[in-house]
Amino acid sequence: MVTALSRICALPAISPHNGGSGEEAKAKEIEKLISGLGLGSVEWQRVDDAKSPTGNRPSLFLEVKGACPRRLCILSHMDIVPEGDRSFWTLDPYSPVVRGSRLYGRGVSDNGMAIISSIYALHTLKKLNITPAYTVCLVFLSDEELGSSFGVKPLLERGLFREDDLVIAPDSGNDSGDFVEIAEKSMLRMEFTVTGKQSHAARPDTGVNACRAANLFSVELDEALHTTFQEKDALFDPSVSTFEPTRRAANVPNMNTVPGKERFGFDCRVLPSVPLDDVLKVVERVRDEVSRRSGTVIEIEVKRDDAAPPTSEDSDVARLLLSSIKKVLNVKPVFGGIGGGTFAAFFRRKGIPAVVWQQEPEGTAHQPDEYTEIEYIVNNAKVFAGMMSGN
Ligand SMILES: [Zn+2]
Repeated sequence: MVTALSRICALPAISPHNGGSGEEAKAKEIEKLISGLGLGSVEWQRVDDAKSPTGNRPSLFLEVKGACPRRLCILSHMDIVPEGDRSFWTLDPYSPVVRGSRLYGRGVSDNGMAIISSIYALHTLKKLNITPAYTVCLVFLSDEELGSSFGVKPLLERGLFREDDLVIAPDSGNDSGDFVEIAEKSMLRMEFTVTGKQSHAARPDTGVNACRAANLFSVELDEALHTTFQEKDALFDPSVSTFEPTRRAANVPNMNTVPGKERFGFDCRVLPSVPLDDVLKVVERVRDEVSRRSGTVIEIEVKRDDAAPPTSEDSDVARLLLSSIKKVLNVKPVFGGIGGGTFAAFFRRKGIPAVVWQQEPEGTAHQPDEYTEIEYIVNNAKVFAGMMSGN
C-alpha cells in the first residue's frame, strides 16, 4: 500500500486553475493499479474544462457486484493543493518517503490514502474470496480542492448516483478515528468595498476617510452579528456560528494620504438553524447605518453556500460505518459537524445521506511536509473492508 500510494503521489494532480496540469496522469496510474490487482476495469467520466491540457477533467468509477445491488460508494479525490513555498518543506513533496512510522509527501493524507485504502479493502476481499455484501463503487474524483465544478457536482447532475447509495467520503477526520462528520455549517464570504474621497492627510476636511468608515463598519458588524446570532448546537465545535473579519486589502502606500477606498472581508460559518438570509439582513442594516453616518458608499459582494440538511445518525451508512469503526479501532465514535467544505454536502442536498470519516493525522493536510501514519492507511482499509462485507 505504501508503494502504491507513493507511486500515485509522485504525480502531482494540481488543478489547471491553480497552475497545474490536472488529474489525467494520476488517473491513468490509478487505472493501472486497479487492473494490475485484477479488480476489473474502471469507467472514465470526463467533464469539459477548456483550461485543462486534455480539454477535460477525468473521474473514475470502479463498480464490483456484491450480494445485493445496493451500492456502497467510497469517494476520494485525486487532486491536491500546490506545495506552496518549497523552502518550508524539508523533503521533496513529489518523492514520497518513509520516515519512521510515517509516509511523507504532498497528497499522501489529503486525499491519496483514501484512494489506496479503498482499493486495497476491495483487493483483500477478493483475495479472501469474500463476495461483498453491497455492490462496491469506488469513485476517484477531480477538482475537490477548488469546489468540485469539474468533479462531483456535474457527475451528480449526470445521474451517476442513486438515492439509496451508501456514501462515504474519507476526506476528513482525526488521529483517534472516532469522529464521524454528518453535518456542516453554512458558509458565507463577504467582501466589502468602502468608497469615500481621497485627500491629503493634513486636509481630511476635504475628503471622506474610507479607512475610518471601514474600521467602524468592521467593528459594528462584528458586534451586531455576534449579538444577534447566539444560537448553539452541540453537534459542532465551536458550537456557535462564527463571524470573522479576515482579509484586508492594501489601500494607500504612504502615510500622509487619507484613503478613498478600502476593501476587506468577513468569513462566516453559520449554524444550519440560522438562515443566511437573516444574516444578510443584519449586514445590510449595519451597512446602511455606517454608510449614512460616514458619508461613504459600501458595496457588498457575497459568496454563499447554504448548509445541507444533516445526515441522520440512524441512516444506514452512518450505522454501517459506526459498527465497522468500533470493531477495527475499538473506540466509541462520536457524530459531529464541521465548519463546511466537504463534498458530502452535495449529496445531502440531493437527499442522499453521506458521511465523512477517516483516521488521519490532524493538521497536516495542505501543510508543508504533509504526512500520514502508515498504520492509519491500514486501519482505514480494514474499516472499509468491514463496511463492504456488511460487517
Ligand atoms: Zn481533501
